[in-house]
Amino acid sequence: MLALSETQVRLGLTASDKTDAIRTAGRVMVECGLIEPGYIDSMLGRERVAATYLGSGIAIPHGLPQARDLVRRTGIVVVQFPGGVDWGSGEPARLVVGIAAKSDEHIAVLQRLTGVLGDPAEAERLGRTGDAGAIVAVLNGEAAPAPAASAASSAGGPSITVTAPVPHGLHARPATALVEVAKRFRAEIAVSAGVGVGNGKSLVSLLRLGVSGGQPLTVTASGDDADAALAAIRAAFEAGLDEPAADGAPSHPPAPVAVPPPADLDYDGTVIAGISASPGVSTGPAWTFQREELVVAETAPDAAAEHRRLDQALAGAGADLRNLHEEFWKKAGAAKAAIFKAHLELLDDPEMVADTHAGIDRGHSAGWAWRAVYEERAGTLAQLADPLLAGRAADLRDVGRRVLRLLADAPGTMGGSVAALPDHPVILLAEDLEPSDTAKLDPAKVLGLCTAGGGATSHTAIIARSLDIPAVVAAGPAALDVGNGREVILNGDDGVLVVGPSDRDRARATAARVTVGERREAERLDRYKPAITTDGKRVEIAANISDPKEAATAIEAGAEGVGLMRTEFLFLQREFPPDEEEQFEAYRTMVRAMNGLPIILRTLDIGGDKNVPYLRMPAEGNPFLGVRGIRLCFEREDLFRTQLRAMLRASKEGPVRIMYPMIATPAELAKAKAITEQVRREVGAGPVEIGIMIEVPSAVVMADRLAREVSFFSIGTNDLTQYVLAMDRLHPVLAPQADGLHPAVLRMVERTVAGARAAGIWVGACGGIAGDPAGAVLLAGLGLAELSVAIPAVASVKARLRGISMADAEAAARAALDCADAAEVRALVRDRFPGGAA
Ligand code: PEP
Ligand code: MG
Repeated sequence: MLALSETQVRLGLTASDKTDAIRTAGRVMVECGLIEPGYIDSMLGRERVAATYLGSGIAIPHGLPQARDLVRRTGIVVVQFPGGVDWGSGEPARLVVGIAAKSDEHIAVLQRLTGVLGDPAEAERLGRTGDAGAIVAVLNGEAAPAPAASAASSAGGPSITVTAPVPHGLHARPATALVEVAKRFRAEIAVSAGVGVGNGKSLVSLLRLGVSGGQPLTVTASGDDADAALAAIRAAFEAGLDEPAADGAPSHPPAPVAVPPPADLDYDGTVIAGISASPGVSTGPAWTFQREELVVAETAPDAAAEHRRLDQALAGAGADLRNLHEEFWKKAGAAKAAIFKAHLELLDDPEMVADTHAGIDRGHSAGWAWRAVYEERAGTLAQLADPLLAGRAADLRDVGRRVLRLLADAPGTMGGSVAALPDHPVILLAEDLEPSDTAKLDPAKVLGLCTAGGGATSHTAIIARSLDIPAVVAAGPAALDVGNGREVILNGDDGVLVVGPSDRDRARATAARVTVGERREAERLDRYKPAITTDGKRVEIAANISDPKEAATAIEAGAEGVGLMRTEFLFLQREFPPDEEEQFEAYRTMVRAMNGLPIILRTLDIGGDKNVPYLRMPAEGNPFLGVRGIRLCFEREDLFRTQLRAMLRASKEGPVRIMYPMIATPAELAKAKAITEQVRREVGAGPVEIGIMIEVPSAVVMADRLAREVSFFSIGTNDLTQYVLAMDRLHPVLAPQADGLHPAVLRMVERTVAGARAAGIWVGACGGIAGDPAGAVLLAGLGLAELSVAIPAVASVKARLRGISMADAEAAARAALDCADAAEVRALVRDRFPGGAA
């Protein structure tokens, strides 16, 4: 047992700020022989990752695990700052407990602190006492802290003794179950575990008790239905606090668990399996995506208004969570949706709500008071020894921010919102990302990306590939539960996130990175060599871009043209559309950067997963089947004409091709062409080549007819796959099956090529499988003249095609058309072209 002595306590000090206070505590730790001076930097480093303010005026600075070697012996010091030090949480810290931990012996002290925390009056007394012995007595457990003054602990009445469920104790699921039962009664319910007392109706309060499996608990109730409440609670404990519902789904949300990994993924860390969206392997600290910096005023003049705002925000966040729960339930099943139910329970916490209202009464704004309350609770949870319970801190912060967004004064405007990232590189975890959020990510700061939802052909995945950020999507909500700062491996090739990797996992990740790095370097050196197969057939390799600056990057990466410029990205994340001049400048910049090489400018493809709120288009029940792409251009002909004017003006500077997205019928093509021709005459541009995306099944079926009207086709396999297989490209459950190498999709490609050949036009592909090592071979074998791929894939696809013969690719493509599914197709390509894992 770790004993605190009076020599380890300093009273009545002052500090100018948090850093000063931590340095002071660190110096005391050095004086007491607990640490080497270098550990102080690590304590400051930890503070940058996560604030160590516990609540009730107590902070517990300690170093990062990597600095354990600088700990000479495990121990703590207590430094008192009676005037308080701002710890960034809205409340001053008065007792700063510096912890030097080689092992986990300090946890007992933390538990005592948790007891003190439950009693703000006791914490206040210790924060100002002139008697070091009083602090020593409480932290050594000689004087138990006075009982917590909460409503729950004052419950005096009948009580029962129950046993916490084994093996995990009162973690999120059983605690949620207990809260649900307790809330059915009017009685106040207090749950006491040793020194701590929790409110039986508050999930956070119960979690903070840190109850482990098998621990005895006393449940006390007071109120007119106290006996009935205790009977129900006893029954719930006897049923294990985890009853299955009548429909077979768990009635209480299970703590998020990792999806079992595919059998051949052998990691020691916890594997969260998703699907591969962008290749590459990286290791680093996890960071949960936050779109905006939320700014709240500290004080507010009108308390009544703030009370109302709080109630409205809680109701709004609750409605969001119920919708999310329903949506995930439908798409991903009860287990994956459970996290949102748990979040709802965290939101509906009477203690947190009451404390926030109390903060408002003390003159704070609703946002300030709410943030102080949830941050204080989350801080306490994060310090609990049980990782399962500590993990709930991330949930609480997530829920807290959901409400805070509705209370914030400056919730990041639509035009300016960016990911709030720390100043060191991270692996970003997110519920899902808007394509425009992804486009703004800085690859220097984001080592990898893992989303709970989404699919491999979502635009988020597409942008991650173009930025060369390894990415995994459709990993389920477990990915959001990892906690900031936790070390993870993101393997974009295997489609997994590995939490808490072992040395062996790390070594293998490093080896994979080195191998891939060497191969890519070799490919990069040959990037300007054309993709000519061993039997002399050439396939043009172009790049997909979405930003004017990328045109030059594409050429530098070895692209022989731009096969798809997604112009809609010029329209995202702003308050109004770019005007003709702005667009003209953007297109001209790209055309000039191409230096005579062709560029295909696709006209606006808004809709589906690319929203442009300022257009105020009516919400769609099925956005991918609605007013999207060329259909939207006809609805908003003003936008279409402006864009065409800018494109056609830019065409005077170099070889521009114009391509329409989502063409489903010959009538649409005729209309788009007629408008383009009118605009061309208006701006006095010369003729330009016109092409269409082939991404709708009706266009494939009508390919022979459509081909007579255009100069080229470019097959959009991302959309074609979703429409042919009737699988939403964003669907987290169906995404793994929505593989563009499915024979049904390949047969569509074959038919498109046949239609195009009859009319004598060329066909390319710009969907994701063009950049896939197996896809590139098969599409070439099916007769495509051009493959347009993400910039980082240009060199590897060229190298891949230079290594095979077209005759073999054609034979493989013929065989693939006869396969039963995509897995069989992939196996076939692996067999025939071994060693092609680009
Ligand atoms: C496609 O659908 O394959 C395509 C290239 O277009 P987008 O991904 O932008 O919809
Ligand atoms: Mg498309």
